[in-house]
Amino acid sequence: RFRASLADLDSPAPQPHRVADRYAAVPRSEPGLFVNTPDTDPAVAVNRTRFRAILERSASSSLGLSLVKIHSREELNAAMEKAAAASWGGADRRAVLHRIGAALEANRDTFLEVMAAEAGKTADQADPEISEAVDFAHYYAELAAGLAETDGAVPVPARLTLVTPPWNFPVAIPAGSVLAALAAGSSVVLKPAGPAERCGTVLAGVIRDALGTAGADPDLVTLLQVEENELGRELIAHPLVDRVVLTGAYETAELFRSFRTDLPLLAETSGKNAIIVTPSADLDLAVKDVVSSAFGHAGQKCSAASLVILVGSVAHSDRFRTQLLDAVSSLEVGYPSDPRSQVGPLVEPAAGKLLDGLTTLGQGEKWLLEPRALDDSGKLWSPGVRDGVRRGSAYHRTEYFGPILGIMTADSLTEAIDVVNEVDFGLTSGLHSLDGDEIRTWLDRVQAGNLYVNRGITGAIVRRQPFGGWKRSAVGPGTKAGGPNYLAGLTGWESRPSTA
Ligand code: GLU
Repeated sequence: RFRASLADLDSPAPQPHRVADRYAAVPRSEPGLFVNTPDTDPAVAVNRTRFRAILERSASSSLGLSLVKIHSREELNAAMEKAAAASWGGADRRAVLHRIGAALEANRDTFLEVMAAEAGKTADQADPEISEAVDFAHYYAELAAGLAETDGAVPVPARLTLVTPPWNFPVAIPAGSVLAALAAGSSVVLKPAGPAERCGTVLAGVIRDALGTAGADPDLVTLLQVEENELGRELIAHPLVDRVVLTGAYETAELFRSFRTDLPLLAETSGKNAIIVTPSADLDLAVKDVVSSAFGHAGQKCSAASLVILVGSVAHSDRFRTQLLDAVSSLEVGYPSDPRSQVGPLVEPAAGKLLDGLTTLGQGEKWLLEPRALDDSGKLWSPGVRDGVRRGSAYHRTEYFGPILGIMTADSLTEAIDVVNEVDFGLTSGLHSLDGDEIRTWLDRVQAGNLYVNRGITGAIVRRQPFGGWKRSAVGPGTKAGGPNYLAGLTGWESRPSTA
């Protein structure tokens, strides 16, 4: 049941009968601006026949580009000097960025294939992620056109921006960071995450190709890989680098800063996110949003819901828990080669902290649904739901990045908000309530960058929900990706010489 072969796809689909099954019934997203997201519409799913055809094709092309691995300081310096020498010249950044958006869309199938094969992305997660990358291109194209003198300060493009993305959004996050830096007039070095190198290679290939076709210098984007050793440190601290864009763990941002104290870093870092459900909520909707936020991409999102906090009568009656368990146990766990899969593999097989989260209960906790390893690889785990998570416990405060949801309870909304705010991170946060006063109280007090009312807490849409955190979820200027100020943080600013 968990590892259906492609031949099984011809058998009829099971009849939708549980909450989570409804997700699969809606057709795939259409390309277009600012409308594509997995979680405002979690039902986005790729047509099965089409997806099978994509996966059956031979190994993915990287459009002629191959990943250059850097082995010495000399190679690193040469690559960085070449990258820094590339320039926009007189090319129209707005027009070029729109061309890149079209090229990303034209390569949707190639991205789907490599995201499934390399990065464990199921079709329902990968398809809207590609749309997000397309949206970044078109949105930053327009922001580039508006990047102009502000309050007497003139934008002076960075020479070289280094982008170090994570593996969990192997296309949208590197695309967003690279395209924002390009739109701000910089040239870019992209160092893909180890487990997502092929995705990064395809992405860089498509962007370079589009740059060339549109009359700009393809060397504005350089793809390279270094080991996480002394050379990695030299890459981060390289004197030619004017900006570093990192998406990753808070500890990684601290490590980067230890390499170079004046590092101009824009980082989106860890999260430990909760959805509060009050007695006024539409509980059917709350269950659906909690499930998609907690278990989409097996919970491997900084934005994922790791906690649900039940308030008052929701905590004391069985209804929410029963419906939640029904929905969670109906999720299909499997590899992306099966288009039915809703909870995919762990990209970094359960180790250390994550394995603890999947197997060890804290004091007073019990499994309502115990996570189980479904094969020997350690990658495929059925989703887990733990009840009785206590305030201040490890599970309350630690990011685990896997398919686990913890249930906490509170007597009042204000107590629930205190529980949320006790965490060191503040990336996303959710409230399910149909009471205006509750919504206002929560909006005033809760400490997180992205707040969602009566919606899932993953899948921020470019322009509509600029994405970025508070507290230990952000390091640097705090400008939000996909928002109007993002390019301003990626450019230098100089005062205009007085003409008087
Ligand atoms: N932007 C993504 C979202 O809204 C999350 C990115 C991340 O996990 O770093 O779900």
